[in-house]
Amino acid sequence: MSEKGLGFNSKTIHGGQQPDKAYGAVMPPIYQTSTYAQTTPGGHQGFEYSRSANPTRTALENSLASIENGNYGLAFGSGLAAIDAVIKLLSPGDEVVTTNDLYGGSYRLFKKIFEKFGITFHFIGMQNAENIADYINEKSKLIWVETPTNPMMNIIDIVAVSKLAKKYNILLAVDNTFATPYLQLPLDLGADIVMHSATKYLGGHSDVVVGALVVKDKELADQLYFIQNASGAVCGPMDSFLVLRGIKTLHIRMQRHCENGKTIANYLKNHPKIEKVYWPGFEDHPNHSIAKSQMKDFGGMISFVTKGGKYKDAIAIVEKLKLFTLAESLGGVESLAGHPASMTHASIPKEEREKSGVVDALIRLSVGIEDENDLIADLEQAIG
Ligand SMILES: *Cc1c(COP(=O)(O)O)cnc(C)c1O
Repeated sequence: MSEKGLGFNSKTIHGGQQPDKAYGAVMPPIYQTSTYAQTTPGGHQGFEYSRSANPTRTALENSLASIENGNYGLAFGSGLAAIDAVIKLLSPGDEVVTTNDLYGGSYRLFKKIFEKFGITFHFIGMQNAENIADYINEKSKLIWVETPTNPMMNIIDIVAVSKLAKKYNILLAVDNTFATPYLQLPLDLGADIVMHSATKYLGGHSDVVVGALVVKDKELADQLYFIQNASGAVCGPMDSFLVLRGIKTLHIRMQRHCENGKTIANYLKNHPKIEKVYWPGFEDHPNHSIAKSQMKDFGGMISFVTKGGKYKDAIAIVEKLKLFTLAESLGGVESLAGHPASMTHASIPKEEREKSGVVDALIRLSVGIEDENDLIADLEQAIG
């Protein structure tokens, strides 16, 4: 089957997939094996050892490449393992320019692990892409972008950043976890690498931790594959299967996440006790026009602050929520609420955190695909 002409909805279901060769299984089987019989040394069917490749993981990697409009997919044991592999493309002395409000775990990996190895990271606001040029010099090797950012929902212009990256011959990687390829295709917008925490929307059911990279360029894919195999942070066959299954409903889940997200964002915006709502779908969002041009819709991630909100007010709200579960993570079918300052972003020093707006009163919602009236009733009783 030629996939080139398929639309996104078809790709989530069929992209990179064929019925299994052994018995025609429609869903790629879980090849729960570490090794493969050889007829003579080197005489195998493309699989030797499951760190290097496993058929279930390969099926997932092909699916990932298809839905992101790339040529090569790589699946890892977690999103952070995928980011770790990208940074290992670099050498001591190299510099990275990255978003200042980014996933707390990415910040921790950059700051606490890779700075020790002589790599320098510049954490900057990228809402205005021109800012980036000030931090570029001959040592710059990578620009790391998250958009929408977590948790402030800032939007970064991928096309503008990619023009800059190409001008200075620097790699551009985009963490596409929040948007997913349903909303935004970074490789088509000029990025070299797209990264996912597949733990979130791609898996979609809060039952697995997996990471992913997708690229177009063969040489870059080979380098990343070398690191994946040499460092060994791969995901297992069962986890690969779960993400494959999740991806098959990504488009319909995302459609509902976006619908519910829009309803809740507007509900919060009109609520007398809410000071500020961060969601890129609002016309008065500072980068709404870029969001509109690079994204198909605006997603189900929303952050907000109550009027005169203090630490204890935010905690009281998240404790009162019933249908929204207080938990780390996002992107599952169920609605989750989080308190970034004490949860996902606790690893960022308070001063750094507050500079980018992650104040103690901030609450982040991952709006699920339940009935919107039930979600609103829950927020109503919690906010009061
Ligand atoms: C969760 C997350 C990560 C890290 O992924 P894990 O699968 O938890 O390792 C990276 N970036 C973003 C935006 C995330 O939300």
